[in-house]
Amino acid sequence: MSAFDTVVMLDWSAGNDRGAVPKRDAIWTCVARAGIADAPKYHRNRDVVAAYLAALIRDELAAGRRVFIGVDFPFGYPKGFARAVAGSDDPFALWDWLEARIEDSPKANNRFDLAGEINQRFGGRGPFWGNGLKRNIQGLPRRKDLYVNPFSDRRVVEEQAKGAFTCWQLSGAGSVGGQVLMGVPVLTRLRRQFLGHIAVWPFETLDKPVALVEVWPGLINPVVKEAEAQGEVRDAAQVRLMARALSRLKAERLQAMLDVDGSEEGWILGLGFEDELMAAAKTTLTPPPLKDDCFALPPGAHWTPVDEALESIRSRLYTVVPSEELTLGAALDRVIAADVVSRRSNPPLPNTAVDGYGLRHADIVDGAQEMPLVQGRSAAGEPFEGTLPEGHAVRVLTGAALPDGVDTVILQEDVTTDGEAIAFRGPLRFGANTRKAGEDVLAGEVTLAEGRCVTPADLALAAAVGLEKLPVYKRLKVAVVSTGDELAEAGTEARADQIYDANRPMLLAAIKRFGFEPVDMGRAPDDRAALREFLDRAAENADLILTSGGASAGDEDHLSALLNESGAMALWRIAIKPGRPLALGIWGGKPVFGLPGNPVAALVCTLIFARPAMGLLAGEGWQMPQALTVPAGFSKRKKPGRREYLRARLREGQVEVFASEGSGRISGLSWAEGLVELPDEAMDITPGTPVTYYPYTAFGL
Ligand code: AMP
Ligand code: MG
Repeated sequence: MSAFDTVVMLDWSAGNDRGAVPKRDAIWTCVARAGIADAPKYHRNRDVVAAYLAALIRDELAAGRRVFIGVDFPFGYPKGFARAVAGSDDPFALWDWLEARIEDSPKANNRFDLAGEINQRFGGRGPFWGNGLKRNIQGLPRRKDLYVNPFSDRRVVEEQAKGAFTCWQLSGAGSVGGQVLMGVPVLTRLRRQFLGHIAVWPFETLDKPVALVEVWPGLINPVVKEAEAQGEVRDAAQVRLMARALSRLKAERLQAMLDVDGSEEGWILGLGFEDELMAAAKTTLTPPPLKDDCFALPPGAHWTPVDEALESIRSRLYTVVPSEELTLGAALDRVIAADVVSRRSNPPLPNTAVDGYGLRHADIVDGAQEMPLVQGRSAAGEPFEGTLPEGHAVRVLTGAALPDGVDTVILQEDVTTDGEAIAFRGPLRFGANTRKAGEDVLAGEVTLAEGRCVTPADLALAAAVGLEKLPVYKRLKVAVVSTGDELAEAGTEARADQIYDANRPMLLAAIKRFGFEPVDMGRAPDDRAALREFLDRAAENADLILTSGGASAGDEDHLSALLNESGAMALWRIAIKPGRPLALGIWGGKPVFGLPGNPVAALVCTLIFARPAMGLLAGEGWQMPQALTVPAGFSKRKKPGRREYLRARLREGQVEVFASEGSGRISGLSWAEGLVELPDEAMDITPGTPVTYYPYTAFGL
């Protein structure tokens, strides 16, 4: 995470007041924290933004946070200019010189006149050019053709920054000359106002809580253009994307960018690191695709134990979905994509937990006593102004901020009062009935960790700690294909020799329950060419493909044949009952789980293998269902060699199992409310024997 808690990006303008309605080519700022950018903010003129920045710096300093302020105009001029004008090579001498001479108001400023005056010291034909006013200004050429520059045309850094404008050009689209003249005085005043708290890069070491840094959004122009194409105001996109990128950079990467020598002229942060900045600026980060041989098993592997199969899945799959930022309301059931840090403490201020009277603990004696009440009260959202005088009490209502001086609250039920004073008995515990600021959550703490699935309670927490958006992964898309010539669509007329497709509705619904996006690809016939097309379409439309049927090695088992053909197949003979071989492969870069056709085996394999795999792909990390240990309500002699899953449910503290273990018995799946898991080894079960039970809800079903 960044070395700075807060990043502010500033897009400057040399013009006059631009009115109340946000527009382009004006002043914009954007704040980002922990990699998440707020909405960009429009400022109609420089007075407004100067006040905004001062308030922001004050708040950030008070909160003990480090702030990075990125500014999009040059902090220095080509070598020699500072000495020639302000008498010193120190860039701050020039800053002070300009601040003393620039006159600025929302309606007018003197930048062209001052540039003309400076030019006259050097013969009146440079270094500045581009008079943008109707009237002529002595010494300031309108165009570059008559221009003579006694200094370099560009700073060293600008020789390397493609497309950067020079700081001498005062008018014309994209020119920055006016911005420097109108911006440096504002920065100079901020520096003075927060003396000792601000360091300016690259002239000073950034060892203060606030850093002022020259940052040029031109470096990430391609991503800005993408945002513009979506209709965002260019300046807004520039500050938003740059703030986000800088806030996302790891501390050591930012340090690498800061490590330059730009002593007199200044430098542009990030020059030479454009790709890295653009990658960090992008809304969606798409992880690399899975490799084709991802599921290959070591040769000669025979019946693979369930735990080994799970370990293989765990070690081969990783997050494949990109991330995005969603408002709280839209983030429910999504997976958190990056640790979320609280913006403010909860509670933000010490407050009272009860209705009662606030007082100073030092004023309380043991035994009966009276205390005068001060005028006024502190209610939630309506704090008491001022400090509680010694020896007094003040009326406080639940949730109200504690007035200055109050450290302890007595419950209203424990006092008598006539409205002028209260009477009660001491002693009272110091801090009784109060809540400390941050006693629940401290600002800057990780409140929602990466991989967590967002619950309604998480939304309460996120709102309470001042968050507006959450970084979440896009929903994993899971395609479902049924295979088999014998299948008919549910609800249609079926021939006597057909069966209804039971797996598809079950799997689509299960995917939805898991919190992922089901993609219904329909039924594929037992025909290789046709199935190939189904897989192609599924791979295009989803992140993971679940098929059922056709996964063994028989004549009509086209799925395993196709996956074999593509060289991306591993037929996993897993030591599990029910569940014939599970086919795992990669098709078009997407993992395929070839589930058994039998609905019971299909559901068991989905819950045991596909569910944790989906979690990995979706960004949840590896999560195993939580099991219960409960006494058996049945008897069974289990043979060694395979792990077994029985359709089961809890009744009166015991787990009962479905009468038949036949894997075609769909009624048993529906009867059951979970699965009993019997170990790979032999086991003799009689009523009362503790067994492992997973309610369906443990899988998220
Ligand atoms: P298979 O794996 O294709 O040999 O199928 C195994 C058994 O599951 C056969 O009895 C199939 O008819 C049955 N089956 C396959 N797919 C489905 C499905 N979608 N719904 C219900 N039963 C199915
Ligand atoms: Mg079949």
